[in-house]
Amino acid sequence: MNTIDKLHDLKGKKVLVRVDFNVPLKGSEVRDDNRVVQALPTIKKLLSEGARVVLMSHLGKIKWGKVDDAEIAKEKEKNNMEYVLPVLEKHLPGVKVTFSPETRGEKLTEHINALHDGEVLLVQNTRYEKGESKNDPELAKDWASNFDAFVMDAFGSAHRAHASTYGVPEVLKEEGKQVALGYLMEKEVQNLGACVKGDVHPYVAILGGFKVSDKIKVIDSLLRKCDKILIGGAMAYTFYKALGVGIGTSPCEDDQLDYARKCYASGKVLLPVDGVCADSIDNPTKITTVETDIEKHSPGIPEGLEGLDIGPRTVALYSDIIRKAKLIFWNGPVGVFEKEEFQKGTIEICKAITLNTDAFSVIGGGDSAAAAKEFGYADKFSHVSTGGGASLEMIENDGHLPGIDIIG
Ligand code: AMP
Repeated sequence: MNTIDKLHDLKGKKVLVRVDFNVPLKGSEVRDDNRVVQALPTIKKLLSEGARVVLMSHLGKIKWGKVDDAEIAKEKEKNNMEYVLPVLEKHLPGVKVTFSPETRGEKLTEHINALHDGEVLLVQNTRYEKGESKNDPELAKDWASNFDAFVMDAFGSAHRAHASTYGVPEVLKEEGKQVALGYLMEKEVQNLGACVKGDVHPYVAILGGFKVSDKIKVIDSLLRKCDKILIGGAMAYTFYKALGVGIGTSPCEDDQLDYARKCYASGKVLLPVDGVCADSIDNPTKITTVETDIEKHSPGIPEGLEGLDIGPRTVALYSDIIRKAKLIFWNGPVGVFEKEEFQKGTIEICKAITLNTDAFSVIGGGDSAAAAKEFGYADKFSHVSTGGGASLEMIENDGHLPGIDIIG
């Protein structure tokens, strides 16, 4: 693997680092600077070698195509990378950090050429360029022409073959220039690698969140590797419906019923045996625990109620399985953790996983990482991935992601 420590002769070299600064914003304020903090070891290493460091990242989405120019201008303003500049400066005291509002062409080149050794340039949102998400070869060539080396450190974007994650290193490699994975990528590849390999048993996966269809491929892959898959969250209701358990007004994906039956037939999938249900998510007037045990032929959730969290019997059942595991992968909250009334299940899952200090425990990014952080458990996991979609795809594709494979 080409890793950052293998790069050489970096003094005075212009190095592009693809970081993941897709931070959560509230207006122009960065709500959580974790992604900036995670990129620092790579940035500092390059600075210590005397490189001229240029940082590029996407931020949010720009909907090209259907919307008019005024709409696009609004979206650009909403996802302005300049909001991240003060946060980056705060974390790099004593380092000169500048900003390029231009995303390509001569002006960008001028900003890059104005850098001195040990200085940093942050470039405006890569998605200001329409060709970024399409991996436009002209854009990739234009960007690559500015650099002597490339470091990929954006794990959250490594499942996308975009111009900044794939096109640029492809061009630089062809030109015989150095490309490498940064420290964050190395850490992700190594830790998620344990879940990809899955050669430690018992291997238990906990899958929650909203949709079965979003996670079909990862369920298939985990069925081949895991000893047990514990289902929680809204995706449990598709399984219930497929197996004849009542779901009340809970969400369900009717086109996934056959798939759910097939997964359950593997004997590895466990479903919640009870659930916390209510008449409404936002203004519940009635909250009750309902039995949903398939083995006991429970009728399930009655009409007028919606399942919103796993219940206490499920917590006990799942905790017991988690306690005996040696390898644990968790993706997706098991209830509506954003609401106090329905967060107990997710908190108890965090507790059970982190109490098992013998196990190697990994959170596959996204909402479950946010939940673990909110409830104060994040630092007790062996690894909390910075990429939700990327970590799922890495497991699905047996460790392969475009942004990793192109580095080689
Ligand atoms: P995902 O992005 O697929 O991981 O889904 C995460 C979302 O699923 C979170 O916002 C949770 O509030 C939501 N969620 C989890 N469990 C349930 C449930 N039982 N009913 C409705 N939404 C849920």
